[in-house]
Amino acid sequence: MSAVISQTELRRLVDGWIGQGVQVAGPRQVKPDHVLYALLNESGQLAMDGFVRPANSIKEFVYPRHEKLYGYRLNEKEIELTDVELPAKPQVVLAARPCDAAALPILDPLFNWDFQDDFYNRRRELTTVVTLACNNHDAHCFCTAVGLAPDAERGSDAMLFDLGDGSYEVRCLTDKGRKLFDGKTQSSDKVGQAKAAPKKTIDLEKIRSFINGDFESPYWQELTLRCLGCGSCAFTCPTCHCFDIVDEGNAAGGERVRNWDACQFCLFTKHASGHNPRTAQGQRQRQRVTHKFGIYPDKFGDILCTGCGNCTRNCPVSLGIFPVLDSIQKVETGAVEAA
Ligand code: SF4
Ligand code: SF4
Repeated sequence: MSAVISQTELRRLVDGWIGQGVQVAGPRQVKPDHVLYALLNESGQLAMDGFVRPANSIKEFVYPRHEKLYGYRLNEKEIELTDVELPAKPQVVLAARPCDAAALPILDPLFNWDFQDDFYNRRRELTTVVTLACNNHDAHCFCTAVGLAPDAERGSDAMLFDLGDGSYEVRCLTDKGRKLFDGKTQSSDKVGQAKAAPKKTIDLEKIRSFINGDFESPYWQELTLRCLGCGSCAFTCPTCHCFDIVDEGNAAGGERVRNWDACQFCLFTKHASGHNPRTAQGQRQRQRVTHKFGIYPDKFGDILCTGCGNCTRNCPVSLGIFPVLDSIQKVETGAVEAA
């Protein structure tokens, strides 16, 4: 037997959580044809279907774009530092796509490697992720090429399957998920199934071989010539996590903050001396691919990509990671001659 919940009851639960002070986020239509993961004020804002996936990712609910780390003030000759309180509000991220949920356990070791990031860890502890298995995909999705699937459970505390009759099968996967839905579902003999496996493939060995053997290849520049360096790919990616730490204020007082950054920006590697080791966009694209498919898996064991396709979907020139990987595969098989 399975556990099911009607959409009406699910929305009632959402309103109940919000009423209890829980922060609830989920897909929300913010403009016609534009859906983002966003905080919900009430359950009517939750968008459950009619689109492939939100244009952003859920990382911002555990790793915000802008975060105050501490405050500072100069008192005559003393510098006074003020701590920031750690987040305390429980939150539920609802109807996340499996390719978003899977990014969180991939990011966990990064925020606990040489330093334990209390802000990130606290939000992770406070967050329950409820995914919605995918029933559709578009030309940019490739989760199956990186070991995931439309019903991949990694990173989910509970997973919903749309039964097509106004109800969802609820599969609780962790204690957090069980606690959230305890006593809220009904028994049924209906079983949900994801219906949307993308067909794209990537030969990860070929990508590795190119990364390791063709660092200086002029092909990096050639195949990424159209990149504008806008950073949209990184900001909407569930796994990209670069940041910059800056002081906002003046010598008398202010805040030390952490802001998202992106390796596609030309200033990302610029030194105070003026020297920039990555002067061309091709070098920056090489860094993005090498980091995701070489450096990160070597260090933490996971590819830094869940195949969500956001980087291409949101790219003003339809580049992003898959077209670059696909071109590399063609170069490696000789289908395209490297420059
Ligand atoms: S690949 Fe596309 S989204 Fe990424 S920096 Fe280049 S132009 Fe912008
Ligand atoms: S690199 Fe692109 S496809 Fe991979 S997780 Fe990031 S946005 Fe998604």
